[in-house]
Amino acid sequence: MDKNIRLSGLIHESLVNGPGIRRVFFSQGCKHNCHGCFNVETHSFNGGNLFNMDELLSDIKENPMIKGVTFSGGDPFEQSDKFSYMAKELKKLNINIWCYTGYRFENLIDDEKEKCHWGELLRNIDVLIDGKFDENRASEDLKYRGSDNQRIIDVKKSLEKKELILFDIE
Ligand code: SF4
Repeated sequence: MDKNIRLSGLIHESLVNGPGIRRVFFSQGCKHNCHGCFNVETHSFNGGNLFNMDELLSDIKENPMIKGVTFSGGDPFEQSDKFSYMAKELKKLNINIWCYTGYRFENLIDDEKEKCHWGELLRNIDVLIDGKFDENRASEDLKYRGSDNQRIIDVKKSLEKKELILFDIE
């Protein structure tokens, strides 16, 4: 597999993209066109820069302070093969993984056969924040999400119980 992933950027240590000190990778490329999107520069599939995934992973290995990684966007599910690889390697390090997407959890499950890496990525993340950003339902008071139609989902429990189970952020 080509080990390069296209990112619009990254944050080395973030406290606001999930619990604890996290490394955040912003995927480049998004089709959702949410009105009021704050990251329009991440929409083009040719923008951003290519990063070698093994180098990104070794940098996390060398930083024991990093307990979690967040995949943000853009939409990481547009590069699900690459983010699956990253997620599987990060799980070997016991890293907690959160992922944002403009797709709904139900769509990701339904289309899993067609988009073969969607299920693989889902199975290797802990928490999914799903759905398009809706500026009419946006609030700065919301923790970890931009608008209240988006859900913070406990992926492992949801897959196990075959029903949507929200993650308790308190
Ligand atoms: S999914 Fe995210 S990056 Fe894509 S258009 Fe919506 S808010 Fe912007």
